[in-house]
Amino acid sequence: MQNITNSIKEKVIAFDGVWKTYDVGQAASLRNVSLTVDQGEFVCLIGPSGCGKSTILKIIAGLEKESTGVVTIPGNVSMVFQFGALFPWFDVLKNVELGLEMQGVRGERLHHEAIKQIELIGLAEHIHKYPRELSGGQRQRVGIARALAVDPSVLLLDEPFAALDPKTTFELHKDILKIWAETGKTIVMVSHLIEEAVSLAGRVILMKDSTIDHVFSIDIIRPRREQMKDYAETVEKIRKEFFR
Ligand code: ADP
Ligand code: MG
Repeated sequence: MQNITNSIKEKVIAFDGVWKTYDVGQAASLRNVSLTVDQGEFVCLIGPSGCGKSTILKIIAGLEKESTGVVTIPGNVSMVFQFGALFPWFDVLKNVELGLEMQGVRGERLHHEAIKQIELIGLAEHIHKYPRELSGGQRQRVGIARALAVDPSVLLLDEPFAALDPKTTFELHKDILKIWAETGKTIVMVSHLIEEAVSLAGRVILMKDSTIDHVFSIDIIRPRREQMKDYAETVEKIRKEFFR
């Protein structure tokens, strides 16, 4: 049964022999990257700074173009950036509405969809606050609400929790797993923490020197906890390859 289910899963992202060089004469930022992501998968990219993680997300989002190789990307993608990337002069509601406006949504529906997402992410009482009046975690929630408002099939997150304290990060991990489980969206996330990747993803992709070094399937039952034996062993296994 497992095999049958796997084989009929639709691939939403595919990279085949992809190279990316930003500037002439510069070393390649991606070297021969091949990877596929199935519909509904939760994938984490990890690896040292500068190894090309954000470049992969930007190509999936259509913000950058591959230099050579073949890329298949989905039509509706949303990106969540590290600090929420909010407009400081707009309140929470307007920041979320903007994402929808850019997709051509207007009128009552615009308002309705924005409020729905703000409530879902637990910010109803902060709807008229400005980014400077919010905590880091709340700002990141606004970024997530804005990304989800357009109902993307693929959600991209680039080190979304890097600047947050451990407790806030833990809460947001729970939220993102809930969103993933309830909506069935495909998630590709960049993390700089092995523990975070093992807590969340079904597959962890380790990058080094601008290419994919290792791929780890994580079959541990969720919710995953540090005390779990498989969890600790998996973190250790990935750590070894990371620092090798
Ligand atoms: P990571 O997210 O893993 O830290 P990036 O994908 O941001 O790495 O960057 C990979 C490499 O590409 C780095 O050497 C970086 O300096 C270079 N790079 C990224 N974006 C640009 C750009 N817009 N122009 C030129 N070089 C870039
Ligand atoms: Mg990056």
